[in-house]
Amino acid sequence: MALTQEQLLQLRGRLQDRGTELRDIIQRELNDAGHDSLAGQVHDTGEGALADQLVGLDVAIAEIDTQELMDTRAALDRLEEGRYGICIGCGVEIGFARLESQPAAARCIDCQKRFEAERGAETPRL
Ligand SMILES: [Zn+2]
Repeated sequence: MALTQEQLLQLRGRLQDRGTELRDIIQRELNDAGHDSLAGQVHDTGEGALADQLVGLDVAIAEIDTQELMDTRAALDRLEEGRYGICIGCGVEIGFARLESQPAAARCIDCQKRFEAERGAETPRL
């Protein structure tokens, strides 16, 4: 593996910190979404739809963070299994520079671009 032990330890520390941070953020977001019962207060008024949208937005943000938490955990799993820093798409080594900016990255830049392009094009083709 191209990464040194020092680099791995550094990235593992960042992943663990980020995982803890994300758990707190998600907890707070879910509390906010359910707690204030904004939707309940303005129920049956014209503002109801807006409140629903706000609550939906909170949940959407929590989902993005949940996805990042899952990516972070998956990266830690790969680290434990010695597969960290290897692209899950094509198997090439992911450079330290990329991992340093995105410790949870599972793909090399080429595969990530392809993955996002495919995901972005999820419109039904009949
Ligand atoms: Zn790749």
